[in-house]
Amino acid sequence: MKYQVAIIGGGPAGYTAAEAAAKAGLSVVLFEKNSLGGVCLNEGCIPTKTLLYSAKTYDAARHAGKYAVNVQEVTFDLPKIISRKAKVVRKLVLGIKSRLAALHVTVVTGEACVVDARTVTCGGDTYECDHLLLCTGSQSFVPPLEGLDQVPYWTHREALSNKEVPSSLVIVGGGVIGMEFAAFFSSLGVKVTVVELLDEILNGIDREMAALVRADYAKKGVDFLLQTKVTAVRPADGGVTVCYEHAGGTGCVTGEKLLMSVGRRPVIEGFGLENLPIERTGRGWPKVDRHLQTSVPGVYACGDLNGVSLLAHTAVREAEVAVHHILGIADEMDYRAIPGVVYTHPEVASVGSSEEALQAAGTPYQAVRVPMAFSGRFVAENEGVNGWCKALTDADGRLLGMHLYGNPASELIVMAGMMIADGRQLADWKRYVFPHPTVGEIFREL
Ligand SMILES: Cc1cc2nc3c(=O)[nH]c(=O)nc-3n(C[C@H](O)[C@H](O)[C@H](O)COP(=O)(O)OP(=O)(O)OC[C@H]3O[C@@H](n4cnc5c(N)ncnc54)[C@H](O)[C@@H]3O)c2cc1C
Repeated sequence: MKYQVAIIGGGPAGYTAAEAAAKAGLSVVLFEKNSLGGVCLNEGCIPTKTLLYSAKTYDAARHAGKYAVNVQEVTFDLPKIISRKAKVVRKLVLGIKSRLAALHVTVVTGEACVVDARTVTCGGDTYECDHLLLCTGSQSFVPPLEGLDQVPYWTHREALSNKEVPSSLVIVGGGVIGMEFAAFFSSLGVKVTVVELLDEILNGIDREMAALVRADYAKKGVDFLLQTKVTAVRPADGGVTVCYEHAGGTGCVTGEKLLMSVGRRPVIEGFGLENLPIERTGRGWPKVDRHLQTSVPGVYACGDLNGVSLLAHTAVREAEVAVHHILGIADEMDYRAIPGVVYTHPEVASVGSSEEALQAAGTPYQAVRVPMAFSGRFVAENEGVNGWCKALTDADGRLLGMHLYGNPASELIVMAGMMIADGRQLADWKRYVFPHPTVGEIFREL
């Protein structure tokens, strides 16, 4: 069987590439060994946000009194929250399936293996192609920790399908995924402890914003153990004990459940990548150019697999750029304005450089901060909640980074990303008319 484009992996990178190539009239075969939608749709972005929305709704009902609304009894039903999540996932996976079918993409269910740059095998069949897109994604990294094989523990997968509310949860890793689960379970009344190796949570997010999130969640009862190195885990009465080193001493914390959330690694094994003479990074990940092409002409590596950004929206854009390159359309990947969002409550969103990154690079900058309370809409809808908007600019006022803490940061950050991508100055906000009252008006206050 011969196709113009063969794609391994049906996550955001793979299905976006399949759609884009098929829309342009190319014949496309897409291999997926699990479920279309990949990690993002089946066990990542969408399921977590579905659970977090239930938690947010529960929080809103519990605290409705702040808005002079009396709610008598507020309860939640975790098995139903989990079933709703499954329904949302099913609906979206079905949507992708039908879109690909409508575009006549051949979807092959099975584990594909690369034979060479133009040949892929799957389920005993051989497929020839002109262009090969590798979109195999990433998987949870579970560190080789003493005692881990002796205790039950969760990764994000188990945490997303668990139907019983534990009394306590220890989360090893205070990154984005760890903090989103901390937000979810602490809202449900679970005693959460986050153990983080570094001196601040949410590595990669502007430190000032990360500290605000930590302070707010500490107020809500989450315990944070920073600069704490987990050395071993042991079975305990009714749970798991996590042993650690901290400030030259040792200690331990016990939880009914343990969630390991220390990061993700690109999937580079098990699909014949070694059969391609592809140049790799020092970490073994396929090196790509600005068109996502590897060192082997006609072979592209998009999404988490190339290890550059590990975000679904990056994967989508990379896939578009790769297909444009195949089609001869001028386009290239620009990583300067990729937003990062943490869907805690409130949300944190960043785009461009953080202060730490600018300092490390020796780039001169100015920081302008305004409280979200400068927005009337924010005050109307956020009783007793603080938020911040921080812009980082160069000497000409050109935006280098934007960092928001406060809802709906995830929806607003794209505007700042566009300003950064287009090299615009803070003063440019004044040229645009924002609907009033909206939280986005905060940008005009900078
Ligand atoms: C809990 C969690 C929450 C997240 N939340 C967010 C978020 O809010 N926003 C965000 O941007 N990102 C989020 N992410 C990250 C996001 O899921 C990934 O960045 C995104 O899924 C990457 O897309 P991808 O297409 O590169 O890979 P994936 O989504 O990992 O898809 C790769 C696919 O390839 C398939 N595959 C692999 N090998 C083969 C083979 N040999 N043959 C056939 N098929 C194969 C896999 O089965 C998989 O379906 C989250 C991740 C997790 C774990």
